[in-house]
This record gives sequence, C-alpha cells and structure tokens, in this order.
Amino acid sequence: MVDAPRRAATRRNHTATHLLHAALRTTLGTHVKQAGSLVAPERLRFDFTHYAALDKQDLLDIEDLVNERILSNDEVRTEVMEIEAAIASGAMALFDEKYGSEVRVVSLNSFSKELCGGTHVHRTGDIGAFKIISEGSVAAGIRRIEALTGEGVLKISEGSQRDAGATFRGAARQAR
Ligand SMILES: [Zn+2]
Repeated sequence: MVDAPRRAATRRNHTATHLLHAALRTTLGTHVKQAGSLVAPERLRFDFTHYAALDKQDLLDIEDLVNERILSNDEVRTEVMEIEAAIASGAMALFDEKYGSEVRVVSLNSFSKELCGGTHVHRTGDIGAFKIISEGSVAAGIRRIEALTGEGVLKISEGSQRDAGATFRGAARQAR
C-alpha cells in the first residue's frame, strides 16, 4: 500500500525546506549554510550556520517570505546540468556532499536554486502554508528551525481557534 497523503506531506515539507533555506539567506545573510535537514510527513527540521539566536522579528520575516513564495505559486523547475555549469549558475550545493559530473538543479522562480535529487511538489502553492514552531541552538554556531506546512499549519490554527472560542464563550458567560 502506498501512503499517498504521507508522501504528499513529505513533498510539501521538502520543497518548503528549499524556500526556508533561501529565506534564511535573504533575512540573515549569505553566511547561512545548510548544516543538516530532516524531512518527515509531520514536520521539517533545518539546521544552519548562524552565530546568534533569531529574534521574533527575524522569525516573522522568514515566515512571511516563505508564505509569499507559496502564494506566488511558482513552478518547481528541475533540470539536469553539468556540475560546473550548475555551480556557475548560482545553484547552492552542500559542502560535504559528493556530486557526480551531472547534477539535478531545482529552481523555485529566481528565489531558490539548489542541487537536489529529492521529490518535490509541482508548484510552491501546493505547500499550502508554512509556520515555524521552534528555533534553537544545536551546537556552537549551528541553529535549528522546526516548521510545519499544509495540514500541520491548519491543525495548529484550528487548535488556537478552539482556544479563542473557549475564551470568547467564557467571556460571554461572564457578561450575562
Ligand atoms: Zn531538496
């Protein structure tokens, strides 16, 4: 049995990881490099080089940038290129990854361009929505962000709506 919904959720989180990587570099600077990543159906985790904790405003800016790209509904384009041409075109590569002479380049409009052999959504709009749930340190100079996409974001917004509803009903009772 192929678990299609879980595979779709994993694809959403994977493509969102590319958007997050680009958004971090736009917001914090190009010293930001991917130091590790985990893509699961339920969430994504992204480790990156940066020397200070991110403040609330940084996190909001990063979230906004990623959601902007999701709403732009950009096509996810893949092309196979010679490694030298890919690097010359500005595609980001992982420092300690071994690549062959031909590589696959994944582009999300002009916002993100990375060497990647993974499975993606067709358009950024397929991700639905993006929400950062935690940010912290994992080692000296390495930060970690955990985030949700698609259904994961809907679930936490349903939860906060239920809480808001309970507060509202409580207030309404007191007013009577
Ligand atoms: Zn990828």
